[in-house]
Amino acid sequence: MPEARPSLLGQSPEEIEALCLKLGAEKYRATQIVSAAYKQRSKTFDDIPALPKQLRNSLAQSHSLRLCRMAEVIRSADETRRFLIALPDDECVESVLIPDGGRLTLCLSTQVGCAMGCRFCASAQIGFKRNLNAGEMIEEIFLASELATSELGDSAELTNVVFMGTGEPLANYDQLSRALTAINAKWGLGIGARRITVSTIGLPAAMIRFAREFPQINIAVSLHAPDDATRNQIVPANIKTGIKAVLTAAKQCYETAHREVTIEYVLLEGVNSSRVDARKLASALRGLRVNVNLIPFNEAPALPFAAPPPAVISAFREELERRGLNVHIRRSRGSDIGAACGQLRLARSGQTTRDSGTESS
Ligand code: SAH
Repeated sequence: MPEARPSLLGQSPEEIEALCLKLGAEKYRATQIVSAAYKQRSKTFDDIPALPKQLRNSLAQSHSLRLCRMAEVIRSADETRRFLIALPDDECVESVLIPDGGRLTLCLSTQVGCAMGCRFCASAQIGFKRNLNAGEMIEEIFLASELATSELGDSAELTNVVFMGTGEPLANYDQLSRALTAINAKWGLGIGARRITVSTIGLPAAMIRFAREFPQINIAVSLHAPDDATRNQIVPANIKTGIKAVLTAAKQCYETAHREVTIEYVLLEGVNSSRVDARKLASALRGLRVNVNLIPFNEAPALPFAAPPPAVISAFREELERRGLNVHIRRSRGSDIGAACGQLRLARSGQTTRDSGTESS
């Protein structure tokens, strides 16, 4: 397959100015191109009539604006939509659109597959294929917005973007950083930093860099265990890093950005969800400015775990709250369509035998 021409999405206005100059055009053309790409959502350079024909032609020879397409949409009874996006090299990633009251949240992927190997995560079963580039992440947003408009009406605008799909965002820092810049910038999508969340397994050096470079963007850390013995079993990447380094980095993030860090904790029956685990977690988090998000395990066919019963979840929550922690239980959305991270792609890649039992469009 021929290499796709690089996307202009994710390039900074300065880089596009330099490109215009290189192509013999005026610098101000960059403003027209950026505005066409992000505001008018032009799909080809020929859709930008303000540009001279010659510039449109030379841009089209070296670059592109859109490279991805919606390959499949699965709709849940609760309005959640899960979709697969085909990338130019025919790999695909999944994203989830979650309407919730006045909010419309997009959960997007940053890598094809994931190298982290978390035992309870469907994405880990795929293994790591490649990083997404910033243009592909931005196209996930464009495609989701188009889907929202066509299915939920013209006024359906994305309000929140969470980097909680497949992949480890901080292991793809440079492209993540370009995507975040374009998503947040006035010249780009203009989505407020406080409405953007990046979820990480907890790569300490990258977390600290992130807090320095994007202090207003929310960071969520997937801790999932109160001690190294438990975390090593379910998050193999912890064997090298250790919880202490992750929590020290979380503390530094707070000190740098003055924003509370979210601690994510997937509750797995019989693994990390006892009252004792909750007490240990509270003591591990002592002195940190955090919110705890408890996520009842979202069951997936190929994964040998179960969510604890509601009484166990409530008891876990109580133990944390009694020790002064701010706790939320994340409501499971789209569970009838396999809402756990990476499930749709896993099902489509033929690595699981169970039929997801859902209708696809
Ligand atoms: N690599 C990043 C983003 C991945 S997914 C990270 O580790 O945070 C976002 C969240 O979904 C993570 O907390 C991840 O552990 C969690 N997750 C993955 N599979 C899940 C499942 N089956 N049920 C519930 N949460 C899951």
